[in-house]
Amino acid sequence: MKKLVVITGASSGIGEAIAKHFSEAGYPLLLVARRVEKLKALNLQNCICEQVDVTDKEAFSNSIEKAEAQYGPVECLINNAGVMLLGQIDTQESTEWQKMFDVNVLALLNGMQAVLPAMKKRNSGTIINVSSIAGKKTFANHAAYCGSKFAVSAITENVREEVADFGVRVTSICPGAVETELLGHTTSDDIKAGYNEWKKAMGGVLIADDIARAALFIQEQPQHVCVRELQIAPTRQQ
Ligand code: NDP
Repeated sequence: MKKLVVITGASSGIGEAIAKHFSEAGYPLLLVARRVEKLKALNLQNCICEQVDVTDKEAFSNSIEKAEAQYGPVECLINNAGVMLLGQIDTQESTEWQKMFDVNVLALLNGMQAVLPAMKKRNSGTIINVSSIAGKKTFANHAAYCGSKFAVSAITENVREEVADFGVRVTSICPGAVETELLGHTTSDDIKAGYNEWKKAMGGVLIADDIARAALFIQEQPQHVCVRELQIAPTRQQ
C-alpha cells in the first residue's frame, strides 16, 4: 500500500493534474485548496478533500492531522499552491506583493513544519516545492512573482541541506509556461495580452500533465535518490 501524499492547490491546473497522476499510481491523497467543491469534483479514490487556505497554519496542519488519522504518516508533501499577479513596478499595489509572498513563500513554512518533524524521526519522506523558471531568471513585469519564486528555490535548497542527514528529500520543480488558470488573476489587460502573445510566439506551452509526470518521477525514485531540482519548460522557451 502506498503512503499518504499531500497536494496543495489541487483545485486546478498543475495541482489537479498531479492529484490525478498520483491517484492513478495508487497513493492515498490529501488535497487542499479554498475551492473544496472543485477538489471533490475530481472524485478520486482514497482521497480526503479539505477547504484550506494554505496561509492559515492551523487549518493546514489540522487537515494533515485528519488525513494522517485515516491513512498514516505523510510520505510526500507537494507545496504547489501559488498565485501570479503580474504588474509594473510603478503602479502595482503592495497588497499584490503581500499576497504572492504570503501564498508562494510563507505558506511553504506552514506545510513543511506540519510534516518535517515526523519525517525526520522516520528518516524518510519527500517535500516537493513548486518554484518556476521565474525562480531562476527574471521577466518583465514579474518583479514580485520572480522574487517569490527565487525565494522558493533558495529556501528549498537550504532546507534540503538542513534535513539531508535525516534521509528526507527536498526538491523544487521549476516549470516554464504551462496552460492553467494562473495568468487569470493578473489585473492588467495589457500585461495579460503581452503574456499571451509571448506564449503564442513560442508555438504553445506545456500542459499540466507534463509537470505531473515530473512530480511522480521525483517521488518514485528510490528513497536514497534525491532529485534536487527539476527544470521543465517548453522547448522553445528562452
Ligand atoms: P492555477 O491558478 O491553475 O492553480 C493555482 C492553485 O493554487 C489553485 O488550485 C488554487 O486553489 C491554489 N491556491 C491559490 N491560493 C491559495 C491559498 N491561499 N490557499 C490554498 N490554495 C491556494 O495555477 P497553476 O496550476 O499554474 O499553479 C500551480 C503552481 O505552479 C503555482 O505555484 C505556480 O506559481 C506554479 N507555476 C505555474 C506556471 C504556469 O505557467 N502555469 C509556471 C511555473 C510555475 P483555490 O483558488 O481553490 O484556493
